[in-house]
Amino acid sequence: MATTAAPLPGFARVPHPAPRAAEDRAAILANPGFGTTFTDHMVEIDFDAGGSNGPGISNGAGEWHDPRVVPYGPIALDPAAAVLHYAQEIFEGLKAYRLDDGGIALFRPQANAARFNASARRLAMPELPEDLFVEAVRQQVLADRDWFPTVEGGSLYLRPFMFASEAFLGVRPSRKYKFLVIASPAGNYFKSGAPAVSIFVSDYTRAAPGGTGAAKCGGNYAASLVPTAEAFARGHDQVLFLDAAEHRWIEELGGMNLFFVMADGSIVTPPLSGTILPGITRESLITLAREEGLVVREERYALDQWRADAASGALIESFACGTAAVVTPVGKVADTAGEFVIGSGGPGQVTQRLRQRLVSIQRGQTADTHGWVHRIA
Ligand SMILES: *Cc1c(COP(=O)(O)O)cnc(C)c1O
Repeated sequence: MATTAAPLPGFARVPHPAPRAAEDRAAILANPGFGTTFTDHMVEIDFDAGGSNGPGISNGAGEWHDPRVVPYGPIALDPAAAVLHYAQEIFEGLKAYRLDDGGIALFRPQANAARFNASARRLAMPELPEDLFVEAVRQQVLADRDWFPTVEGGSLYLRPFMFASEAFLGVRPSRKYKFLVIASPAGNYFKSGAPAVSIFVSDYTRAAPGGTGAAKCGGNYAASLVPTAEAFARGHDQVLFLDAAEHRWIEELGGMNLFFVMADGSIVTPPLSGTILPGITRESLITLAREEGLVVREERYALDQWRADAASGALIESFACGTAAVVTPVGKVADTAGEFVIGSGGPGQVTQRLRQRLVSIQRGQTADTHGWVHRIA
C-alpha cells in the first residue's frame, strides 16, 4: 500500500473563465442521466519518472507533481502517447452524496485509492499516494459543489483515472503519466429505469486466470463491448460472463458483481479469484448482510445450478451491484439455450432491504458504524 508521510502538496486553482450558465446547469441537474454531462472543472496531476535514458520502469521511482484544479476541457496528447497504442490506462468510479444537513460525503474513498494502486501495479504504472488520491477527489468535488443533481437518488459521479502519456512506440512501461479526476452529475444508471434487469450469458470471456480481470482498466471494458452489444441486440440490459476455463462458473457482469439469495436465508457471491473485480459495493453488502444475520458464502456458483435453483425455488432472488447502479435486481437470465426467471421476476425483499440499508448509510440517514462515510463538507 502506498502512503506518503510528506505533507500533501497544495493544489493550484485555475477557475473556469466561463462556467456553465446557471439555467443550463439547473436543467442538467434536474435530468442528469448518466455520464453524459460534466462539471466545470477537473483535477490534473502529472507523473515523471525522470531520466530519459533509464530502464523505464516507473514504479517506485519518479514523482507526482503540479496538482491543480483547472477548467474542464480537452487535453493535448502526443499522437505517440503510449496509452493510445498499448492501453496503459486505469480508472476508478465513486460518488459524492449531498447529505440531508447540506454537507457532502464520499463513500469509502480510501478503498478506491487502494484498489487504484492495485490496478496500477498490474498495469506497470506508478502508484499514487492514497491520501493524494482522496485529496484530489475532494478538491474536484469542492470545486464543483453546486453540481449536485436535484433529482431523487442523484449524486455526483467521480471518475479518477490515469494513463500513460509518454510519446514512444517501444513496448515498455511509460515514464510519464497523467492522473485526472472528472465529475458528472448522475441520476439513474439504467436507461429503462426498470425495477429488475434482464441479463444475457455471453459466450465471450471477460478475464482469464493471470489476466487483468481484477484490475479496473479500460482494456477490460473494450473487450466487453461486443458481448454487451450482443446482449442489447437480443433485448437484454446487461451481459454476464462465465469463467474462461470451463465456461460454467458465474463470474460477474460487464461492470457489476453478482449475488444470489437462497430460500434458506444464505447468500452466495463468487469469490475474488483474480478474474473478477473486487467491488467496494460487493464488500460493503457482504458486511451488511452478515450484520443482518444472513450467512454469506463467497463460493463458486455454476450457471446450471442457478437455473436449477431458480426452478426449484431454492434460489429466490439475485442482484447485481456496483457504484453506478448501487443494487440492481436481476429478473431474468438468458443464454442461447433459453431463459429463466428469478423469483417473481421483480425486485426481491432481501435485495431491496440491503439496497435501502446501503443507500441510507451512503446518504447519512443511518448511523455509519463502519467509518465508511467520508465527510468533506
Ligand atoms: C467497478 C466494477 C465493479 C463494481 O465495483 P464497485 O467498487 O462496487 O463500484 C464490478 N465489476 C467491474 C468489472 C467493475 O469495473
